[in-house]
Amino acid sequence: MVAQVIDGKAFAAKVRAQVADQVAKLKEENGITPGLAVVLVGEDPASQVYVRSKGKMTVEVGMNSYEHKLDADTSEADLLALIEKLNNDPAVHGILVQLPLPKHLNEDLVINSIDPAKDVDGFHISNVGLLGTGQKSMVPCTPLGCLMMLRDHHGSLSGMDAVVIGRSNIVGKPMAQLLLGDSCTVTIAHSRTKDLPDVVRRADIVVAAVGRPEMVPGDWIKEGATVIDVGINRIERDGKTKLVGDVDYASAAERAGAITPVPGGVGPMTIACLLANTLTACCRSNGLPEPE
Ligand code: NDP
Repeated sequence: MVAQVIDGKAFAAKVRAQVADQVAKLKEENGITPGLAVVLVGEDPASQVYVRSKGKMTVEVGMNSYEHKLDADTSEADLLALIEKLNNDPAVHGILVQLPLPKHLNEDLVINSIDPAKDVDGFHISNVGLLGTGQKSMVPCTPLGCLMMLRDHHGSLSGMDAVVIGRSNIVGKPMAQLLLGDSCTVTIAHSRTKDLPDVVRRADIVVAAVGRPEMVPGDWIKEGATVIDVGINRIERDGKTKLVGDVDYASAAERAGAITPVPGGVGPMTIACLLANTLTACCRSNGLPEPE
C-alpha cells in the first residue's frame, strides 16, 4: 500500500482563507478587527522564527498583530504586568506567550495569569479543565490541527483505536482528550510504555509527538493506519540540515493508509488554528455567533 499524503500546507491555506473571509465580514458588518498579542521573552532562535511567522500570518488574514519582545532577564513581575495590561485591552482578543520561557520565570504562573477567554493556546488550567470535561473551551492549536486533518480524512472517528505517543501538556494530553471526545478508544504511550511497537501496531490512528527523529519505523504501523506526525526534528544528513518527524516517513508511507509529511503536515495547521482560535475568541467576547 502507498499512503495518501495528507497535505497540511494546502489544508492550512484553506483554513486561513476561511478565517480571512470571516475577519473581513466582522470588520464590515460589526466594525471589529480581531487582535492577537504575542509575547516573546528572550532570544531563542526557534521561538523568534515562530513569532515572526505568526505575526506575518495574523496580518495576512486581516487581523491586528501586537508583538511584545522582552529581554531574556525580564522579571516575572514585569511579564505579569504586561499580561494584565493585555487582559484589559479591548483591542486584544487573543494572547499567546511563546514557550519555552527563560528558566527564572514560572511558566504555569504566567500561563494561568492570561484571561482564559483570551488564552488562544488553550494552556490555561481553566481551558484544560473545560476540554477534559467536554465543555466549550479554547483548544490547543497543534492537537486541534491534527483533529481537523483526521476528521477531514475519515469523516467520523467513532470507535477507532488511536495511539498518541507522548504525554506533554501542549500536545499529547490534549490530543488524547480530543480523540476521546470524538469517540476513539485512546491509548497514551510515553517513555515508560512497555512494548511500544505492539501498542502502535494495534492502532488505526497513530499520533506521534515525541521529539525523537524518525523513532517510529514503518513496521510498527498497522496496514492502512492513519499516521499524524507532530515531531519537528532538525538533523544533519549528507552534510545538510534537514527537518524530519518522529516517524520514519519512507517506511511508514509503505504501510499507512494516510500520513502527514514533515515539513508540510501538522506545522502549518498549528498557525492556522491559532488564527481560527483568535477569531473564535473575538466572536465570543463580542457576543457574536462563532465561526463554524
Ligand atoms: P515533550 O518533550 O514535552 O514530550 C515528549 C513526550 O514523548 C513525553 O511525554 C515523553 O515521555 C515521550 N517520549 C520520549 N521518549 C520516548 C520514547 N522513547 N518512547 C515513547 N515516548 C517517548 O514534547 P512536545 O509534546 O512538546 O513535542 C513533541 C514533538 O512535537 C517535538 O518534536 C516538537 O518539536 C513537536 N511539536 C510540533 C508542533 C507543531 O506545530 N508541529 C508544536 C509542538 C510540538 P515521558 O513523559 O515519559 O518523558
